Amino acid sequence: MLQYESDYYASLRDGRRVYYRGQLVEDVTTHPVLGKAIRHAALDFRMAHDSRYQDLAVVTDGHDRYSRYYSIPQSAEDLKRRRDLIVEGTRLGGTVVPLIHEIGTDALFGLMEVLPEVDARHRTTYADRVRRFWEQAKFHDWALAVAQTDVKGDRSRRPSDQPHPDAYVRIVRRSSEGIWIRGTKVHTSVAINANWLIVLPTREMREADRDYAVACAVPLNAPGLTLIASPYLEQAIDPWEHPLSARHKMVETVTIFDDVFVPWDTVFLAGEWDAAGAVAKAFVEFHRFTAVSYKLPLLQALLGVASLLAKYNGVRQARHVQAALGDLVIYEMTVGALLDNAADRGELVRAGLFRPNIALVNLAKYHFATGLHQAMHKVQDIAGGLLVTAPGREDWDHPELGPWLDEAFAAHEVAGRERVALMHLAGDLVASELAAYHMVLAVHAEGSIEAERMTVVNSYPWQSAEAEARRLLDDA
Ligand SMILES: Cc1cc2nc3c(=O)[nH]c(=O)nc-3n(C[C@H](O)[C@H](O)[C@H](O)COP(=O)(O)OP(=O)(O)OC[C@H]3O[C@@H](n4cnc5c(N)ncnc54)[C@H](O)[C@@H]3O)c2cc1C
Repeated sequence: MLQYESDYYASLRDGRRVYYRGQLVEDVTTHPVLGKAIRHAALDFRMAHDSRYQDLAVVTDGHDRYSRYYSIPQSAEDLKRRRDLIVEGTRLGGTVVPLIHEIGTDALFGLMEVLPEVDARHRTTYADRVRRFWEQAKFHDWALAVAQTDVKGDRSRRPSDQPHPDAYVRIVRRSSEGIWIRGTKVHTSVAINANWLIVLPTREMREADRDYAVACAVPLNAPGLTLIASPYLEQAIDPWEHPLSARHKMVETVTIFDDVFVPWDTVFLAGEWDAAGAVAKAFVEFHRFTAVSYKLPLLQALLGVASLLAKYNGVRQARHVQAALGDLVIYEMTVGALLDNAADRGELVRAGLFRPNIALVNLAKYHFATGLHQAMHKVQDIAGGLLVTAPGREDWDHPELGPWLDEAFAAHEVAGRERVALMHLAGDLVASELAAYHMVLAVHAEGSIEAERMTVVNSYPWQSAEAEARRLLDDA
């Protein structure tokens, strides 16, 4: 069953507690700022009902039709189709990923990977519960958010060593019916507009951290759950001056669990501290594949505007511009090739579940995250200062100023207005609040750069490299 956009909006009017700038929001779908993010995310549902995208967005299985996001990848080809869908959604989303299916299914796949072993070790039945939840989610086409990152307090201390016991979300009570959880997660994307929130541990744990080893799913209107929405990118801006950020945005929340009850049916980890690290990592490996997929439309957009601006400005053939465009091409193609390779060299981690290659997906994410600021710099260089100094729309629409500006800013075979419109698109990508959001998203979202570097370095075959060094020494 595929959700319709209107059903999705109705499903969000469920009494959830969302605060925006200190005010309780009565209806997130009609809120002037949050509503924009919700209309953006609804793209997933529009695509599923649009004949142009159905082949990509929808899977038909007998009489069942469901979102491809819920299809469990079983091969490299499946991962690539999933990537193609993420790319298309993000492209239509003006370089902003919809995310309401992507992140949640990454979490479910990660749990499916790890929980059978947890069950074997601890005589639990978590894997079955996740499977049942996935079936329900697939059937109802639920929008999902994932709350993994805790506020974490002092980063040098473990969860149970923190001065404040709620720096990481923890179990505060258990009964035969379920568990109660308390604490605060942060940076939770799309929580205001998801149907369910999947809670995951953010790191590995020790025995003393037992109560912090918790994974579960909760509906967004669960009593005790409060979301405080970030006002980032809230300005009502002109769509001509900001063609992307005027229409597209994502919202993150501080996500407060004040003794939220979770029935056992949707508890996926409750105290098995030795599994917390594996659950955290398995989600992240699937999610970094999603992350790099949704970066590709941004890189392609940077290339497109850089090339066109260079033409319009009459500098397309200049040596340094050619070099900058060449570097952008190499950057984009390297990220794309690494992602392809991560799918091709992925592995079947259990029957019917294919995971991207860990080293390569982290390499792709690392390469993207460490290169984006430089790529934006190159586009800024090619564009010129008009990126931040162009007159406003009203001046262009003015009967006397407009024609003057149109001539004054004309350049190589282009009228002034057209050139400045492109400049605004470039500005939204490299010199706006959205650009700053993309930069921080690149560095931190889906894990910090150091986490990616460590994963790549730890998966390097050091032993064979050392053995080869010894062999060379012996041969000398
Ligand atoms: C736009 C955006 C959307 C996001 N969406 C989600 C989401 O939907 N769900 C979710 O769960 N999370 C989400 N995140 C969170 C993201 O995964 C985190 O930002 C990331 O893991 C870094 O955590 P942090 O922000 O707490 O920074 P920190 O962990 O404080 O990192 C700051 C610096 O400190 C370093 N550091 C941290 N701890 C240690 C340590 N123990 N030892 C040495 N160095 C350390 C880091 O490497 C980094 O250099 C999102 C983040 C952003 C920016």
